[in-house]
This record gives sequence, C-alpha cells and structure tokens, in this order.
Amino acid sequence: MADPIVRYKDVHKSFGEVEVLKGIDLDIAPAEKIALIGPSGSGKTTIIRMLMTLEEPTSGVIEVDGRPLWHMEKEGELVPANEKHLREVRGDIGMVFQHFNLFPHMSILDNCMVAPVHVKGEPKDEARQRSIEMLEKVGLGDKLDNYPSQLSGGQKQRVAMARALVMRPKVMLFDEVTSALDPELVGEVLEVIRDIAKEGEMAMILVTHEMEFARDIADRVLFLDEGTIAEEGSPEEVLENSKSERLQSFLSRFR
Ligand code: ADP
Repeated sequence: MADPIVRYKDVHKSFGEVEVLKGIDLDIAPAEKIALIGPSGSGKTTIIRMLMTLEEPTSGVIEVDGRPLWHMEKEGELVPANEKHLREVRGDIGMVFQHFNLFPHMSILDNCMVAPVHVKGEPKDEARQRSIEMLEKVGLGDKLDNYPSQLSGGQKQRVAMARALVMRPKVMLFDEVTSALDPELVGEVLEVIRDIAKEGEMAMILVTHEMEFARDIADRVLFLDEGTIAEEGSPEEVLENSKSERLQSFLSRFR
C-alpha cells in the first residue's frame, strides 16, 4: 500500500495504574475510511484523542505522514516533541467531537475563520472565502451570521465539520458525532459525513455506534476490545462474518 498517512506502532496508554490501550499497531492509508467500533470503555476515544495530541501515549510511536507526532528527531535520536512540532503535525488532523465545542459568542462564520486566521496566520479574506465554501458544503450557506444558540444540534454539528474542513486536514476524526443528537437529527449529520467521504482524498477515522453507517462508508472496520484491536477487516468480514463470540455479542445489541 501507499505510505500510510497515519501509523501507530505498539502504542500503549495507561491512566494511572490502568492500561487502557495495550499495544495498538495500525497503518491507515491516505484516503482510507476507518470505522472504529467496540464496547464503551474499550479505548476508542483514547486512540483518536492521541492523534489529536489531546492525550500522550505512555509508550510507542504515532506517525502522521511519516513524521512522529509525539516525538521529534534531534541529532539522530527521538526526543519528546516541543509545542512547535506538535502544532505542525497536528495541522494535518481535524476533529469533530460529540459535543460541538463551538464558540458561543461568535457567529458561525467566525467560528470557522478563527483557526485559519489565528493559528495558521492566513489572510482574513481567504479564510472567509473558504469558510463560506465549507459552510455551503454542509448546507449552512444561509446561516453565516447566526450564532450557535440559534441552531439545532444537527446544524451545530455541521458547523463543527465545516470548521474542521476549513483547515484542510489530511485526516479527519469523528468521535461519536451523532450520539448527543436527537434521533431525528442524526440523518442529516451522517449525510454530510457521507458526502465528505465520497469526495475521497482525506483519510477518516470514525468512532461510531451506527453500524449501518459504518458498513456504508468504511473501507475497514476495527473492533476494539479491552484496549486491543481484536478484529479488523472489510465491513462484510467484521460486521457480517465476525469470528469471535465477543464481537458477535457486541453486534447483537444493534440488531
Ligand atoms: P471508549 O471511547 O471506547 O468508550 P475511552 O477511550 O473513552 O473508551 O476510555 C477507555 C478507558 O480509559 C475507560 O476505562 C476510561 O474510563 C478511561 N479513561 C479515558 N480517559 C481517561 C482519563 N483522562 N483519565 C482516566 N481514565 C480515563
């Protein structure tokens, strides 16, 4: 396969005494769409939070586009990364959270513009142009001047997606983005993710409990169980012909 855009090499993570990830090895190809499924507490969120630099691995290496994320090379050795290095590598990663984390005192256009202007130092006009484009893409072109409080949960989640896309990430992370939404709003959000996935060029990792959706859009499904990747393969292999009893029992809850 092409060089991976994301690589986890024997990544472990403990919180205090508890080891929640027990050696994750994972290569993700550019443009690959990964669905991460598994019981609550199995470590799904921790896997993607580490990629977003919100948690640091206890051991192991994570690389983004060939560059170590939490480490940097210095005189031929890997040393802990400094803030500048973290910021640079993180620039390739976009994340959408379960709770939208929008700035309540800013219009949705400003919510989208703030990172390109203040983090990347892009000219305002350019950032505005692209923010409008992305808000149109998620179907909110007529709400540019609205504030988050004036939007439905589904609309807020679509703003969060536009805001991430504006940064042109190479990898997008979606952490249970529909689980805080009223059921009738789930569809519109999944539809937007489907559209983004179809465009193709970005890699995506989706933590999801929407099995139908995972089947539809994922190239590969990973079943995480007690901190290890217990099964992986195509949606058909993992969701329809699962090998282990634990996965079968997990999936039976969604039928
Ligand atoms: P999942 O996303 O699969 O539900 P998580 O990655 O959120 O699982 O959590 C895995 C385990 O790590 C859980 O037992 C959780 O309680 C624990 N955990 C996650 N974050 C922290 C933290 N910041 N401090 C202590 N324990 C944590």
